[in-house]
Amino acid sequence: MITTHKTIQLLGRRLTKTRKAIINSLSESCCLLTKEELIKKLKSQKINPNRSTIYRELQFLTKNHIILKNIISGKDYYEIPKDHHHHLICLKCNIIVKVNIANHLKKQEKQIAKQNQFNIINHSLEFYGYCHACRQAGQKCQA
Ligand SMILES: [Zn+2]
Ligand SMILES: [Zn+2]
Ligand SMILES: [Zn+2]
Repeated sequence: MITTHKTIQLLGRRLTKTRKAIINSLSESCCLLTKEELIKKLKSQKINPNRSTIYRELQFLTKNHIILKNIISGKDYYEIPKDHHHHLICLKCNIIVKVNIANHLKKQEKQIAKQNQFNIINHSLEFYGYCHACRQAGQKCQA
């Protein structure tokens, strides 16, 4: 499931029960999870860490690029970067939809890296707008 070299290295080291459960929960999910959703998943695995442990582990995993942190509408979201994708975010109902864009930004990323002498590890790209359901609802109100 988790194949990056770094992850395996970290898994081999002191791996706390909470850290392992966080990695597993995020691997099972195909997209972003909030901290609350993550805690719910941990609880379903009978793991009940306190807030500061969760916070510490999430910080550690983010710092080591094992998981990605994404701040959307002021809320923290986390995911495992196993398949590169982007998100459509509805500004009304906050639904997040996963989108794949084939072969995008690769050339530009190389150029940007070169121009700025910047070693790019990853990028995040979110599209904000209104989902179909919210647009339908809006139309009904106007009628
Ligand atoms: Zn995602
Ligand atoms: Zn991308
Ligand atoms: Zn919506």
